[in-house]
Amino acid sequence: MATRARDPKYFNMLTEDLKEVLSFDLPPSTDPVESEKSISRMTLRQVLLTGLDDVVEFGKEFVRFEQHADSVTAYFADGSQATGDLLVAADGSGSGVRRQYLPQAKTEETGIIAIAGKLPITEESAKLISPKVFEGISIVTAPHGFSCILHVMEFQWDRDGQVKQGIGGSTEELIRQWPGLQFDNTRDYINWGLSASADKLPANVMELRGQELIDLALRVTPDWHPNLRRLFELADPGTCFPIDIWTSVPLEPWQSSNVTLIGDAIHTMTPGRGVGANTALRDALALCRNLIEVRDGRAELLEAISRYESKMIEYGFDAVIKSRQQMSADDPIHKPVIGRVVLAGMRTAMRTVNHLSPLKRRMRDSMLTYRGAERDEEEFVISPAANGHPNYS
Ligand SMILES: Cc1cc2nc3c(=O)[nH]c(=O)nc-3n(C[C@H](O)[C@H](O)[C@H](O)COP(=O)(O)OP(=O)(O)OC[C@H]3O[C@@H](n4cnc5c(N)ncnc54)[C@H](O)[C@@H]3O)c2cc1C
Repeated sequence: MATRARDPKYFNMLTEDLKEVLSFDLPPSTDPVESEKSISRMTLRQVLLTGLDDVVEFGKEFVRFEQHADSVTAYFADGSQATGDLLVAADGSGSGVRRQYLPQAKTEETGIIAIAGKLPITEESAKLISPKVFEGISIVTAPHGFSCILHVMEFQWDRDGQVKQGIGGSTEELIRQWPGLQFDNTRDYINWGLSASADKLPANVMELRGQELIDLALRVTPDWHPNLRRLFELADPGTCFPIDIWTSVPLEPWQSSNVTLIGDAIHTMTPGRGVGANTALRDALALCRNLIEVRDGRAELLEAISRYESKMIEYGFDAVIKSRQQMSADDPIHKPVIGRVVLAGMRTAMRTVNHLSPLKRRMRDSMLTYRGAERDEEEFVISPAANGHPNYS
């Protein structure tokens, strides 16, 4: 909470010439748990690693595992091995554990490629966007299926790393007391993510880096508003990267054993709903709780894993399906002629909603209700990006 960026106040849909199509207020997130939080992933990584110096070992590349009656052994590329009661795969979308354990599991390309970049907030960059865009999360939709997300991340400390005035002493205390005190790795920035179907981008886009990606963003958006193009131009080349968006294909349940999976290792999803990391955290929490029961003698290991997996398969693949619906090159918006008609229809519908308060409220509420983590009895809910936007930070 101490290291998050301030909450977005608006959700905006814009045209490529920065005209508003739809905009609504996002309610302030008051619940510390069930609320939207804008987090820089570098900072989140540090927070999650805090206090684990003697637990996490870097440079250990998992190669394969072997299951025995009461244990499981993981083998690493450096020739070492580790044996335990349970192997938990948290090795992301290309999971080697998944490939060995569930060879029937499939992942596939969505045909969408994104280019992401960040630029620091300066006097010049701040002036390039309207106050609503500055204080909100915005999606630009443009012809040929191009879209671009804009997200301004403003943190609680200033450019010298001092806690900003007026936020109250307790946050400062909290930051001071945080073991490791490594929060100071990022400054206020504007984050953009430009995406399109792969056929609209050069075949070698995944090999491009830094300035090449900025040049490409400018090349494919010649008719976009000059301010948007300036945001691309001002991006720090070191922050730019291309992303080939993949998704997993929902899987039938399997027989539980002493190998299990969490996060992208089992349910890689498109960033369309912005809930991949949240679902990974939800898995970790649910699995952890079940393992505590095993430790305390209140449950058997296999039964606890099976309970975790049956729920995880349900909510995890539900999020996969919903995220896929938001991002697929098969969507008519990416098609040559029909795409223009779809875009025009979409804009007209959004503009209409924009002028009808009750409809707008309903749309906002339905967006905010998608939690990807419905409350189970006694379950502590990790809330996903409530307004369903991907965070490329
Ligand atoms: C563009 C984009 C935007 C996104 N935006 C959001 C968002 O706004 N909100 C949200 O909730 N989610 C978002 N996501 C999804 C989120 O990033 C992922 O769901 C999340 O990172 C998954 O976490 P994970 O720990 O399961 O896997 P990862 O974060 O992929 O971590 C896997 C780890 O395993 C390691 N590893 C891999 N192979 C091996 C091996 N053989 N041996 C040892 N280690 C190995 C890797 O090095 C890595 O450290 C977004 C994703 C993308 C691509």
